[in-house]
Amino acid sequence: MKTIHEPHLMQREADELRSAGKRIALVPTMGALHGGHAALIREARTRGDVVVVTLFVNPTQFGEGEDFGRYPRDIDRDVLRVSDAGGDILFAPETTSMYPPGYQTFVDVETLSRRLEGAARPGHFRGVSTVVTKLFNIARPHCAVFGQKDAQQVVVLRRMVRDLDLGIEIIVVPTVREQDGLAMSSRNAYLTPSQRGEAPVLYRSLRKGEDMIRAGERSAEAVVARVTAEITAHSSAVIDYVSVAEAESLDPLPTLSPGTPVLVSLAARFGATRLIDNIHIRL
Ligand code: AMP
Repeated sequence: MKTIHEPHLMQREADELRSAGKRIALVPTMGALHGGHAALIREARTRGDVVVVTLFVNPTQFGEGEDFGRYPRDIDRDVLRVSDAGGDILFAPETTSMYPPGYQTFVDVETLSRRLEGAARPGHFRGVSTVVTKLFNIARPHCAVFGQKDAQQVVVLRRMVRDLDLGIEIIVVPTVREQDGLAMSSRNAYLTPSQRGEAPVLYRSLRKGEDMIRAGERSAEAVVARVTAEITAHSSAVIDYVSVAEAESLDPLPTLSPGTPVLVSLAARFGATRLIDNIHIRL
């Protein structure tokens, strides 16, 4: 496996691969790789001739007071994980080569970026859309693989690809979970043992919401109330939001109707650690 740090060298490599007729599959990550990332890399392996994994803790998607400074970084371990999972190229740029002095260009998917996570984390998706556009321009992929764990990210990026005619196929991999149901996340490492013990309540509560819907409940308010009650009854978590939305527009859905894809999503804090999770349901 090859590691590349400079954007212009990655671009040159990508151009050569494209000239040789190779299909490039991209997996953007912020490192601290876990089983969820490995599943994305394995999926990319089946989708392209060359798998490029990017590792970049992107400062523009972190808000004031968020965890940019303490986000876990371990490049040596990540190099091993990428090569074990089947990556061919690891692109790990420095912040200054992605955002040199004077940098001032941003991509903003306006409405979708302000819903849910975007309301809780203003500017987050502007940072994501910008860095992913840059990574697309640097690695020139034919397709890119993302996780359902960040459901809104997929919705925002699909819109961006359509709106800007980027012509890159977006592939989504289901959320990979620990045995007790907790969605794998680099941020799980922040949890204290007792918070880690409580955290599976997030997925359990989503499943309770799903069970209600499958049993015929059509009121989003009732589903949100049940999911919220489950979390507060069984943990110390502070809920940021629980949402029932149409899965593509992210419009709030007061009433669920047959045929509508539904995204039940939530964000909650265990102390300073903010976790997200979601379930996608087609009625
Ligand atoms: P991150 O490094 O957290 O920015 O995540 C990089 C990519 O991995 C994103 O597309 C995430 O949605 C995806 N990802 C993170 N956690 C999981 C998981 N548990 N299962 C599947 N994909 C994930």
